[in-house]
Amino acid sequence: MMYERTVNSEQETERLARLLAESLASGDVLTLEGDLGAGKTTFTKSVAKGLGITRNVNSPTFTILKQYEGRLPLNHLDVYRLENSDEDLGWDELFYGEAVSIIEWAHLIKEDLPSERLAIQIYRLENDKRKFTFTPFGDRYERLCEELFE
Ligand code: ADP
Ligand code: MG
Repeated sequence: MMYERTVNSEQETERLARLLAESLASGDVLTLEGDLGAGKTTFTKSVAKGLGITRNVNSPTFTILKQYEGRLPLNHLDVYRLENSDEDLGWDELFYGEAVSIIEWAHLIKEDLPSERLAIQIYRLENDKRKFTFTPFGDRYERLCEELFE
């Protein structure tokens, strides 16, 4: 099952992200895919606000991983620059801790991803319009999506 939502503005993206954040729990893993400028980091910033994180969240492209404290801690990964790495860098250990993990360009570390996760794809339409698809893997995320999109 795949869920779809179209938004017309950055504000609507923020609202969707905050709504999702309300349902997140310890150990949840979200993957974010979409072209540069689609809105992956923008979406992550608002999830972070929804998790009670007050520090500014910015793109971790050059550091790959940034960690934040909030109602729930957040691991924000952007693995774009790992494109040519075949090494096992042990990212998977992060995904079984207390924090919520959000991974931009997650397909580049697909061997490390937990089998249960929520895959979010963002498509850039005209102007500020974006299409989001949410694909849950596992019961936990099926239920989360049912609640979110009911
Ligand atoms: P990514 O992380 O996918 O490369 P960013 O979140 O860094 O993308 O950039 C998205 C850009 O698109 C930002 O400049 C943001 O202001 C703009 N934008 C315009 N409309 C939207 C929208 N509906 N949702 C998210 N971002 C939007
Ligand atoms: Mg980004």
